[in-house]
This record gives sequence, structure tokens and C-alpha cells, in this order.
Amino acid sequence: MTEPCLVWFRHDLRLSDHPALLAALEGGRPVLPVFVLDDAAAGAQRAGAASRWWLRGSLAALRADLAVRGATLVLARGRAETVLPALVEAVGAGSVHAGRGTEPWARAQSRRVHEALADSGRTLHLHTTTLLREPHGFGAASGKPYAVYSPFAKTMMAAGDPPAPRAAPERIPGVTPPEGGEALESLGLYPVPGEPDWAAGFPDTWQPGEAGAQARLARFVDRALGKYDAQRNLPGIEGSSGLSPHLRWGEVSPGQVWHAVRSAQADATASETFLKEILWREFAYHLLWHRPEMPEAPLRAEFSEFPWQPDAKLLDAWQRGRTGYPVVDAGMRQLWQTGWMHNRVRMIAASLLVKHLMQPWQEGAAWFWDTLVDADLASNSASWQWVAGCGTDAAPYFRVFNPILQGEKFDPEGAYVRRWVPELATMPNAFIHKPWEAPKAIPRNGYPSPIVDHATGRARALAGFAALRQ
Ligand code: FAD
Repeated sequence: MTEPCLVWFRHDLRLSDHPALLAALEGGRPVLPVFVLDDAAAGAQRAGAASRWWLRGSLAALRADLAVRGATLVLARGRAETVLPALVEAVGAGSVHAGRGTEPWARAQSRRVHEALADSGRTLHLHTTTLLREPHGFGAASGKPYAVYSPFAKTMMAAGDPPAPRAAPERIPGVTPPEGGEALESLGLYPVPGEPDWAAGFPDTWQPGEAGAQARLARFVDRALGKYDAQRNLPGIEGSSGLSPHLRWGEVSPGQVWHAVRSAQADATASETFLKEILWREFAYHLLWHRPEMPEAPLRAEFSEFPWQPDAKLLDAWQRGRTGYPVVDAGMRQLWQTGWMHNRVRMIAASLLVKHLMQPWQEGAAWFWDTLVDADLASNSASWQWVAGCGTDAAPYFRVFNPILQGEKFDPEGAYVRRWVPELATMPNAFIHKPWEAPKAIPRNGYPSPIVDHATGRARALAGFAALRQ
């Protein structure tokens, strides 16, 4: 009989356009699909609470999709370098195929698995499953990694379209799994018994898994892609794709998204703008690969001297959506209730935290990490560093978003604010982004006054940056 093969699913929880799965199946080999929850390897960067909610749904979907094709997903908990060699031994597999983990901890994990398998003469084959292009061996003409987005994106665009995506195998000849695999319920994902069900509303917005990803992609291409240029910055409407959690867990490949957009009959500028967002994701991974310290340390070293003013009360007000700036509070409450926040609002909310409130960007990144269903080490750290001004390609330090003007520009009718901040539901448009200026007769229903006055916050942030430059 042909020697079986292990497919180790990591951040690529899908069956279509999956190079590791397809390579494993070559020559008609039977396959044992495995997912290992290795929190010890990830350490402080283990998936946050909202991500774990997503992961549970995604694994359930993957298990069902594999089952209809003939294979049983093995779930395991523990060190990958222990679990995988044991499974290989148990089923007599010759090799393991997997996606290349790109987070620093996942790279170290790959090395350990590679060594552990080599001890018994087996090989770990790594494939590109979550990116258009692997970040290593790819740099500017100087030979150095890119530090700035525009030339990076130009090179990526010039490289042409990625290979056409490949269909899911119709049948996956399975191997009888050894005894002792974990049940999905015992992986310790979500819900945690006895804890409040904070994710109860998530299923109204999300369907984790490959089918959910494909449905969302189709809906976006059909309804919003053509107007993406004009509408992507308006949080009150569904103008962006909402694909981020699906991309984060690899339920759809960026190549599939790319080709779906290219083959749509949509406005060329809108498509181009959208593909450039996909390239922001690639750029974040490029940065993380070459600057693995990015999640913790500022990429501009001088920022380690920034005079942050940590304050638990300010942080708490921001987290709870009680800063008194309606667009920020709407975003923070959308995050809590759905596990997601619109990109424009992420920028405004993050800017308020690090600039007006002078809180360390790492605190904001940690909150997002725990509460976002799309929490992604590369995109989250790169974006927070960008907003804080300490990234390699950061917003200029003197750009301090004005949360009132940003609200008025991108949510002019206040539809977004009214949806997520019900206290302001009846506030007239003229005051929806500055309710403290409304006549006393208009009720604010307990909505707070601004936690810091915009001009004061701006001046304080600029003074902090000036101190840094001296
Ligand atoms: P669309 O506009 O439809 O874009 C399509 C895809 O492009 C997204 O799904 C995403 O994969 C990618 N993308 C878009 N913008 C960016 C960007 N600026 N950086 C990297 N990739 C991008 N995105 C995450 O996926 N995970 C995070 O943890 C994350 N944290 C962020 C933190 C802050 C402070 C900020 C300002 C942005 C963060 N982003 C993060 C980027 C961006 O906000 C989200 O990717 C986007 O809002 C997802 O919505 P969408 O899928 O509708 O995006």
C-alpha cells in the first residue's frame, strides 16, 4: 500500500487552493489531516479570546468538509514537535506537508518539528498557503528587505497575477486515525464553561469556515467591489469585504481573492485599490519576517524613549467605548459586539489612544489582539506601529487625527454612531460627532463628555514627539 502522509493544517483551514494538501495527495497517497493547538509554542502570542471563538467554528467546518471527502481530522493539543512525530509513527506516514508558519514563534515551531521528524528519517515539507509570496528571499533591488510600502507594492504588482487557484480535491483518501485524539470541545477554545457568553452576537455577522469565506467573497465581488474606492472609508455601510478573519485563518487564500477580483466585471480603479489592500497584508508579513521584534518593540528605536503616560482609567474608558468621542466609541463597541471594527475607525480609535491619551501602542494592540476575530500578528503590530508613528513606513508623527472631523467626513449622517452608540440615537446630525455642543434640551442619555479636549490632547501628543526629536 502507498505510504500515507500527514497534512498539518496551521493558519490555512481550507481545502481549495491548498498546496500542502495537494502535494500530500500526489500519487494517490492516503492522508491524515491534523490540527495541533500548541499554545506553549505561541506563548504570549497565542490566539486571543475572539480568535479562539473563530478557530472553533473554523475547525468544525474543516472537519465536516474533510469528512464528506473521506478523511477524518485529528485534533490535538500540545507541542507540535511531540504530537506530529507520534502520529507519523502511529500511522506509518513517510512525511508531513504543511503551510509555512510566518510568525516568529511559528518559524521556531517549524524548525523544531523539522528536527524531531528528521530523527526518524521523515521530512517536513513546507508550502506557501497563506500569502501571495513568501517574505524571505524577496527584497528591494539593494538586496535589503523593503521598509516602505509603495516600492514593495510596485514590485508585487509588477510580478503579475499569482498562479490561478486550484480546486479542492473531490476525494481525500483518509487513514484511520489512532486512538486518543482530542474532541473539539476539549481543546479549550470557546465557550469556556461558567464564563459569560460575550460572543453570543458573533454568529449574526460571521460564518467561520471555507464556505463562509467563499460566500463573503462572492457577496463582496457582487455588491461592493465596484464601489470600493468610494465606499471603503464609510463605516456606516458595508463597503469593504469583511474578509479579514477568513484570510487570517486561511479559509480563503489571497490568490483566490486576487483572482476573484481580477475576473469580476468591476471598475478597474476599484479593483486596483482593493488589491493594494491585499498587498498591505503581504507587506505586514514582509515586515514581520524581517523584523520579528515588531509585535513588542518600536521599529524606530528612538521611540523606546517616548514619554508614554500609562493610565489604567483612560485605557479602560477607551476599551469600553466611553471616551466621549462618538466615532471612537462606536468603533470600540462594534469591536466588542462583533469582534471586528471598520478600518477607518481602527485608525481613528488607535490614534486617539496613542496620541490624545498618550497610552503605549502595545496596550491598544493587546486589546485588539484579544477582541478581534481577525487578530493577526503581522497586520495588527504593523498597523499599530504605523498609527503610533514608530513603524518603518509610519504616518508622520504630527498627523493627529481629529476624531470630530474624521467622524463628520466619513459618517456624515451619523448612521454608524447611531447604530453602535444608542444613547445618541436621537442626536441631530449637526451634533452627532460633538454631542457636548448640543443644546441642553437634547438628551445625551448618560453619554460622557470627551475624556480629553481635542486641542489639549493634540498639543500634548505633539509635545511628546518634540521631546523625542531633541
Ligand atoms: P478590506 O478593505 O476589504 O481589505 C481586504 C483585505 O486586505 C483585508 O481583509 C485584509 O486582509 C487586508 N488589509 C486591508 N487593510 C489592511 C491593512 N491596513 N494592513 C494589513 N492588511 C490589510 N487587519 C487584520 O487583518 N488583522 C489585524 O489584527 C488588524 N489590526 C489592525 C489594527 C489597527 C490599529 C489598524 C489601523 C488596522 C488593523 N488591521 C488589521 C488592518 C485593517 O483594519 C483590516 O484588515 C480591515 O479593516 C479588515 O476589513 P476588511 O476585510 O473589510 O478589509
